[in-house]
Amino acid sequence: MATLINGKEISQKVRGEVKLETEAFKKETGITPGLAVILVGDDPASKIYVGNKKKACDEVGFNSFEYILSESTEQGELISLIEKLNADPSVHGILCQLPLPKHIDEREIIAAISPKKDVDAFHPVNVGKIMIGDYDFLPCTPAGVMELIHSAGISVAGKKCTVVGRSNIVGKPMAMLLLHENGTVTICHSKTTDLAKECRDADILVAAVGRAKLITADMIKEGAAVIDVGMNRDENGKLCGDVDFSEAEKKASYITPVPGGVGPMTIAMLMRNTLTAAKLSSKG
Ligand code: NDP
Repeated sequence: MATLINGKEISQKVRGEVKLETEAFKKETGITPGLAVILVGDDPASKIYVGNKKKACDEVGFNSFEYILSESTEQGELISLIEKLNADPSVHGILCQLPLPKHIDEREIIAAISPKKDVDAFHPVNVGKIMIGDYDFLPCTPAGVMELIHSAGISVAGKKCTVVGRSNIVGKPMAMLLLHENGTVTICHSKTTDLAKECRDADILVAAVGRAKLITADMIKEGAAVIDVGMNRDENGKLCGDVDFSEAEKKASYITPVPGGVGPMTIAMLMRNTLTAAKLSSKG
């Protein structure tokens, strides 16, 4: 039976560390880290995420600034707001909650955020820096996955790692972080011809797809570490990941649950990135 990697507990530990570091930073510099979160439209899931981010900011001692804009907000208005926040010294991190309404060009919005305040690490400058292994911020979800892997004492070097999913926000950077730690990495996607085989080869399997129970126990190598990034609803409306958890846990050596695995880590890493941004800005 697999050992459960408890993301809730590990994320609390990270948040506790950020809180302590924030207190010390405030004492030393007089600066309170500030995170601005922009939400366009009223997607209920996004509203919950934004609320959780505000709560986390309060908990670790950051200022948080919320901008809730209507669904009909024009691209130009959003860019003007971002430019204002780029120039505001009390704002160290800027996050624009995705997805954005269809009439807004997501790439342009991400590119408008100052790379120094891009605590999601989605700006092309930060993506390039991650590629060459010389970065200030890592994207929150893949960074959270690495934290879970480290906390469980799993070594990546020399291991076969399979990442299922190749999105810019999860799959691709996830693969890059595993590569930086000397894993031998395979990236799978919807056109992969034999997904089951690629998964079965993996010592470390990361599922980031968004399809409930796509990864079944027969696709998992005996003793593999299985990290489930997916967030889906099952047939009963219950939150679940991409992995068929109840069967997979009988085969894996380590596994993350959904909920309580990767999810809580994402916000914890956002707090860490915001503190990093504040520290960088204090150095000028
Ligand atoms: P995207 O929809 O952007 O990407 C999904 C990826 O899965 C694509 O690369 C797609 O391939 C691939 N895929 C789709 N179907 C299959 C299939 N049958 N076999 C193999 N690959 C497939 O999703 P995201 O990366 O944004 O998110 C992935 C999941 O992670 C979602 O459930 C999301 O909710 C969750 N998530 C969780 C977070 C957390 O904090 N826990 C944070 C962010 C996301 P192709 O490129 O070929 O289309």
